[in-house]
Amino acid sequence: MRLDVNTLFMVTIYVETILGLLLLFAWAQNMAIRGVCWWGFAHLVRAASIVLFGMYGSVPDLISIDLANALLFTAFAITWTGARVFDGRPVEPVYLVTGAVLWLLICRLPMLSNAIDTRSFVASSIITAYTWLTAYEFWRGRKEQLVSRWPAIFMLFAHGSLFLLHTPLVTFLPWSPATADMFGSVWLTVLSFEALLFTISVAFILLAMAKERTELRHRTAAMVDPLTGIANRRAFLADAAVLAKRHNGHPRPATMLLIDLDHFKSINDRFGHAVGDRVLEIFTTCARRALRGSDLIGRLGGEEFAALIYDMDRVSTLGIAERIRDNFSQATDDVEGHEVLATVSIGVAHCDSAVLEISELLAQADRALYFAKERGRNRVEVASLEMLVAARDPGSALRPPRKKSAA
Ligand code: GH3
Ligand code: MG
Ligand code: MG
Repeated sequence: MRLDVNTLFMVTIYVETILGLLLLFAWAQNMAIRGVCWWGFAHLVRAASIVLFGMYGSVPDLISIDLANALLFTAFAITWTGARVFDGRPVEPVYLVTGAVLWLLICRLPMLSNAIDTRSFVASSIITAYTWLTAYEFWRGRKEQLVSRWPAIFMLFAHGSLFLLHTPLVTFLPWSPATADMFGSVWLTVLSFEALLFTISVAFILLAMAKERTELRHRTAAMVDPLTGIANRRAFLADAAVLAKRHNGHPRPATMLLIDLDHFKSINDRFGHAVGDRVLEIFTTCARRALRGSDLIGRLGGEEFAALIYDMDRVSTLGIAERIRDNFSQATDDVEGHEVLATVSIGVAHCDSAVLEISELLAQADRALYFAKERGRNRVEVASLEMLVAARDPGSALRPPRKKSAA
């Protein structure tokens, strides 16, 4: 395959400009993801650098080589900065221009002004450093589960490696003609072509990352309670329904805990809404610590929570309920300097049958919770037949006898 470098340059300038504008347009649509703006700008700077490279021969080398390279390195540095900004890290203005400044200084050194190989190695190393740093920034943010993060890391790492290998490979594969005409070098064609493919691929991967993050955030907002960070009612019920479906094929014991903070209105009234919010967060921490990672927990609304414990014997689940109750009352001894002393009431319902009906289990736990409140709060009650009868007997007005506690 023969490729004309001048044509390649024209195509690259066009593609870089279009991709830059495309990314800036995407950023204008959703300014929350600021990294996209940096990436768009990087493409435009790269287009400018290639315009200068293309002027080689008709303008002084200071412009078509020294300045063009300085702009090219800055473009890579801007992409790296975009990756930092994308993952919420600060801009590093000094490192942003380090590559360009280093290069311009080296160009001014008399002993290196004609050392083509050394200058080429320095240039490749600067590009590799910024490209690997960009890959590293994305790798550092891997906790955010974006599928497109991985191809971005791979592409950046591979591109950086190719640039670093370029100098030693030149020795083994001297593809340059004897005239050493820069534009006749096969290497220039290969690298320019690779750079073009790289820039197109990375632009689309970065766009995909931004889009994936937006979607992930929308999905999370719809499923996660913003105060406590646990599942909201909708997500909890959806996860419980999935578990129930699995259960109906291979039944295991299931236990629902329905938990309501005691006299929470009065906590808000006495200490303020902010302390109330903090108490809800403390409760979530206590509950999560007591539960296993595989158990489900959700905030059903206000100060009411539910947990679904699967595949655990009854005695152990009651132990967990007691631990939540106990840990929470201790953890609220001192909330931001206030002796809040909050407590919870917990209703427990077990299911050992072959079919797991989440709504039925919640209804039973709700009746048990009612009894826990009636029997003085700060306690755990287990749903029983007696409660079911009391709930169905209008005469009893849901008033259970004050005798037995499962706590
Ligand atoms: P009981 O022991 O019978 O459960 O009494 P309670 O005061 O806990 O129950 P009630 O239903 O009367 O009051 C619940 C309060 O929870 C009322 C509401 O203002 C408060 N609340 C609901 N959501 C939040 C929230 O997100 N933050 C704060 N701080 N308070 C909330
Ligand atoms: Mg309450
Ligand atoms: Mg309530």
